[in-house]
Amino acid sequence: MIEKAPPRLSLAALRGMLGRCPSCGEGKLLQGYLKVVPSCPSCGEAYGHLRADDMPPWLTVFIVAHIVIPPMLYLEQVYQPNVWLQSIGWSVASLALTLAILPRCKGVVLALMWSLKSEGSEREETP
Ligand SMILES: [Zn+2]
Repeated sequence: MIEKAPPRLSLAALRGMLGRCPSCGEGKLLQGYLKVVPSCPSCGEAYGHLRADDMPPWLTVFIVAHIVIPPMLYLEQVYQPNVWLQSIGWSVASLALTLAILPRCKGVVLALMWSLKSEGSEREETP
């Protein structure tokens, strides 16, 4: 049997961002919203042992802040809209972006961990 070469890091990260298996690009990487599948239903690659921990939320906060804060500051400087309107609007925008971006960040982090052959912290140690 001929083994396929693993995909490049960028392709694996793209597949992870799309919620697909970094190895084959066919099966789903996440089940539900953020739960990692034990293994790819298409190619059987194991992912259940990978733990992304806090990296996806940190990455999400970093990205959302860079999207939301510049227009918020611009609007405040130029138009000074009502404080309540701003509070509600920017909160809703931040929440929506966070919910949309968090699974993408988790997929990228898991794909990078898989590509870089990170052991993860859930695998049982063998003596
Ligand atoms: Zn797969």
